[in-house]
Amino acid sequence: MKPLAETVMQGYAKGEFHIVPDRWNATFEHWMNNIRDWNISRQLWWGHRIPVFTCANGHVWADREDPEKCPKCARTPTQDPDVLDTWFRRGCGPLPTFAGPKTPDLERFLSGHTLVTGPDICSSGSPAC
Ligand SMILES: [Zn+2]
Repeated sequence: MKPLAETVMQGYAKGEFHIVPDRWNATFEHWMNNIRDWNISRQLWWGHRIPVFTCANGHVWADREDPEKCPKCARTPTQDPDVLDTWFRRGCGPLPTFAGPKTPDLERFLSGHTLVTGPDICSSGSPAC
């Protein structure tokens, strides 16, 4: 996440985007300067299972379908038992809805020009939260 945060901060420093209202600038800067990795998975029994498979020989791969055998050694695969984190899943949701990842509808209705969040989901430990 740190390289992504650094890229975001470069754009922020150049004025390519801004925070509204600007009283949240310090919070945004705190988040980006103290970035932490975030799990994409959780150990829950509900949700979208992670489409990553492993065989007994240790081959690991992601697949769109449920494979019957390992593409490298033909052994029976096992799917990762974890599910995608709620926030990660939420970020992926618009892609199948708009037949993404790059379609005119997705560009129009989910351009990313405006991102809205609220202090009720803040978990950074920032004094502003
Ligand atoms: Zn294998």
